[in-house]
Parts: sequence; C-alpha cells; structure tokens
Amino acid sequence: MKKSIEQIISAPAPHMVGDGFRVHNFFPGNHDIRRMSPFFLVDYGSKIEFNPSEHQRGVGVHPHRGFETVTLAYHGKVAHHDSGGNSGVIEEGGVQWMTAGSGVLHKEYHEKEFSKKGGTFQMAQLWVNLPAKYKMTKPKYQGFTQQELSKYEVPGNGGVIEVVAGEFNGVKGPASTFSPVNLFNARLNKGARLNMELPENFNTSIIVIEGTATVNGKTAKTDELLLFKNDGTEIEIEANENAVLLVMSGEPINEPIVPYGPFLMNSKEEIMQAYDDFHKGKFGVLED
Ligand code: MN
Repeated sequence: MKKSIEQIISAPAPHMVGDGFRVHNFFPGNHDIRRMSPFFLVDYGSKIEFNPSEHQRGVGVHPHRGFETVTLAYHGKVAHHDSGGNSGVIEEGGVQWMTAGSGVLHKEYHEKEFSKKGGTFQMAQLWVNLPAKYKMTKPKYQGFTQQELSKYEVPGNGGVIEVVAGEFNGVKGPASTFSPVNLFNARLNKGARLNMELPENFNTSIIVIEGTATVNGKTAKTDELLLFKNDGTEIEIEANENAVLLVMSGEPINEPIVPYGPFLMNSKEEIMQAYDDFHKGKFGVLED
C-alpha cells in the first residue's frame, strides 16, 4: 500500500541563523514536536545569492547536547570548527554528520573562498534526536564528500540515489546512526520513475530541492515538502523534470523530549544540567 500524503508544505517564511544561513523551518514548525521523530528540526536553506565578502558569514560559537546535526550542502560550501578539535569544509554535494552527544561547542560559517567569490548557496540542516541511552555519548564527527556517498543507479539512465544513511535497494549509506534512519538524495533525470519501500511506522518526508516531481500521485515543486502519513510502505516517484529530492525517513523515538535552545533532552532537569555544564565550561573551549 502506498503512503498517503498528509500535506504538501510550502517553505515557511525564512529566518536568519547568524548572518550566513537563511532557513525555512519545516519542523517542528507548527507540528507536534515529535511528528517527524527521530528528526526533531528540519531547517532548509533555499537558494540565495550572496555577494562577495571578506567576512565569512555564519553563526558563531554555540553549544549542542543530546542530538546530532546533519548538514547537507547543495550549493556553496560550509566550514565548521568544534571544541573536539574537528574542523573541515562541507563541499557541494557533501554531508556533515555531527554527533553532539554529551556536548560540543561549534561554529558554522561560509567557507573562505566561497565567501570571497560569493554565489549561490543552498543547504539543509537536520537535528536528529538521540535515544535517551545515547544522549551523553562521546561527541563525534562524520564527514562525506559527494563521491563518498553510496550510489544506487536508477535503471534506464534515471539518475542516482545517493544513500547517506540507512539502505536503499541493498545499497547501504556510510553514515552510522544511533537509531534506524534513512537519508537519501534522489538525483533524478526528467522522466525517471522510481519506487521506494520504507517501513510504515517510519516518519517520512521529502523536500524538493530542485525541479518538480509527482509523488504518489501528487505533484510538488522546488522548495516544497511532502509529509507522508504512517499508513503504507510504498512511495512512487516520477521526475517531471530533472529533480533533486531529499528523502528523510526514520523510526520514531518514543520517549519524552524537552527541547530548549541548542539542547534536546528528555527532561527539564537535564536541560538545566546542560546549561549548568555549559556555564561551567564542560563543553570544552572554542575561540570565536
Ligand atoms: Mn549548530
């Protein structure tokens, strides 16, 4: 049975994160905070042109605890630095999977050469919740270039499914996760048809990053999000033109969640503990 489409959501009015990331918050937005669990937050940065700048736009040092941030760069390049000593650049088509776990400080900004040249910028950042037993896991970082993502070739020159995490038709993604998560970029050529099977209970949505696609009989265009009901397993996609789709699907984490600022915990007490630890310098040191 096909998954019904609950809603096609137009990109909500954007807001700035720092001075570098203009994002549309699809989730939680006005949904129940667990509607897309294990994905808590889905911020999408639609295409925007940045003028050349010597200043690297972005967001300064801030903490996270209790979840993972997953950043996908579609256009432009994102640089980052964290208190665990990790730093790097997310190239176009690349993905950064950062496990904040027990806590990191990090900063996220436009890569230096991209800043100098300016140009088109498009990205997405997802906050993937951690099950209670892993919330205080050691922070870690996984970075993948587009080349390093696993590929499934769609028959008939239909394009390619880049598997970041989880599995598509036997192709496993390189990212390790703490709960079952499927994360794919479907880069489809005009006219391509594709069938996808995802468990009924997995919360599932698709952002149309580029182009238009007809999904289970409904057509969505660039910058729209398709939210599926949890009532079937099949997704049938037809690309009406060359299209890029971000597919997010994961097993819900059925635990209480208390989000507050940059922290995502199971109780108010844990949020207060996070602030206490942060103010005591337990998240490490990172210069601005
Ligand atoms: Mn952050």
